[in-house]
Amino acid sequence: MKFPSEPFKIKVIEPIRRTTREERDRLLRQAGYNLFQIPAKSVYVDLLTDSGTAAMSDNQWAGMMLGDESYAGSENYYHFEEAVRSIFGYRHVIPTHQGRMAENLLFSTVVKSGMCVPNNIHFDTTRANVEHQGADALDLVIKEAYDPRCELPFKGNMDLVRLEETINRLGRDRIPLVMLTITNNSGGGQPVSMENIRQTRALVKRYHIPLFFDACRFAENCFFIKEREAEYADTSILAIAQELFGYGDGCTMSAKKDGLVNIGGFLSLNNEQWARDITNMLILVEGFPTYGGLAGRDLEAMARGLREVLDEDYLRFRIGQVRYLGELLDTAGVPILRPIGGHAVYLDARAYLPHLRPEELPAQALAIALYREYGIRGVEIGTVMFGKKDQATGRTVYPELEMVRLAIPRRVYTNMQITYVAESIIELYRRRESIAGFRMTYEAPVLRHFTARFEELPVRTSQRSGL
Ligand SMILES: *Cc1c(COP(=O)(O)O)cnc(C)c1O
Repeated sequence: MKFPSEPFKIKVIEPIRRTTREERDRLLRQAGYNLFQIPAKSVYVDLLTDSGTAAMSDNQWAGMMLGDESYAGSENYYHFEEAVRSIFGYRHVIPTHQGRMAENLLFSTVVKSGMCVPNNIHFDTTRANVEHQGADALDLVIKEAYDPRCELPFKGNMDLVRLEETINRLGRDRIPLVMLTITNNSGGGQPVSMENIRQTRALVKRYHIPLFFDACRFAENCFFIKEREAEYADTSILAIAQELFGYGDGCTMSAKKDGLVNIGGFLSLNNEQWARDITNMLILVEGFPTYGGLAGRDLEAMARGLREVLDEDYLRFRIGQVRYLGELLDTAGVPILRPIGGHAVYLDARAYLPHLRPEELPAQALAIALYREYGIRGVEIGTVMFGKKDQATGRTVYPELEMVRLAIPRRVYTNMQITYVAESIIELYRRRESIAGFRMTYEAPVLRHFTARFEELPVRTSQRSGL
């Protein structure tokens, strides 16, 4: 397998501490076996999220020193506006402190109670912001997206048949906009093809419905288009991005992903009236239109990050590093979600720990074992995060997939550290029967995964032979 060598060298380092197994075991017990409650300084390789965790370049840090902290008309705003216009091409550029504020401003302006927003798959905050308006957040990704073994180049694509059926059923007046999430985060970081984007555009245009992008990982999506859609093999990432956004009317963006910054986001769109209403709301809840909840230096770092992320050597390394981890695991027989997406590798916990029953929370058990044994922090995306209680029977309704997500921060870990992660997971897989299940002892009424507490169950070696 090709080693995706780093297209940068290290100038500044942040020491990380190795902890002992005893120390991690004690921390886990104190944290009620909830990895969100573990102090980051006691984690060796932190794969909790790729959001806001990127390493900035020397060029971005240099830009931080050029912050113009004027209340109105900061120089950095104009740099930022120019960077966004040159890539995304929309008329109005509205900075926000992160992605969910862009979503909140857009949806609180254009979505009314009783409406419906179709998306390939809504990200959690996107769904929450649509539902907060009393509207329905509908996921219309192609059906294959829910099959972890199905190999398709563009598993994030919109199901156009169901989209048209939905428009016909509800009527265009109840659909203020259609969204496409690129790449499709909640569906495993899978890309959407340019062809599917073009067809989605053609469809919604017939009904005069605007198309918006949830653009968080747009550069990673554009790289997949270049790799997998033959007609784009010789097109630059910038030109691919420009064509892609040309099919839309606007976008929301969390620059904590492909903006390569630790905080920041924006909303960009063509509609004059919407932009005016959103800007008025922005001033009320976030800040003046030329800073939108950020410092001038943050805007400068974002302007520079948005240009850097289009660099093909960077993207080849980035996508290549995620793929490298996935293929090391796959080759060793560790069950993962296929194909490997743009920002994370997902372990299939049910297949990894077949001796655990669903109520023994296999993905939670696997995430805990990875931290306790190796100091690696992933995140449970399974029953703890998405399981629901059936109101009538009181029984747990289990989600379709029970996974541990290993999200790779951008430009942060060396390939040697990624190799360490792979070797640890493979070693753990060889002695997987020693992993015990868990039981939840406390849960909050909403978003329980952040604060839930757990108890470890005895190892059930006797059951495993039958499975
Ligand atoms: C992270 C993310 C968001 C929300 O952005 P924040 O900056 O975390 O508020 C929205 N959509 C997608 C697809 C994301 O990955």
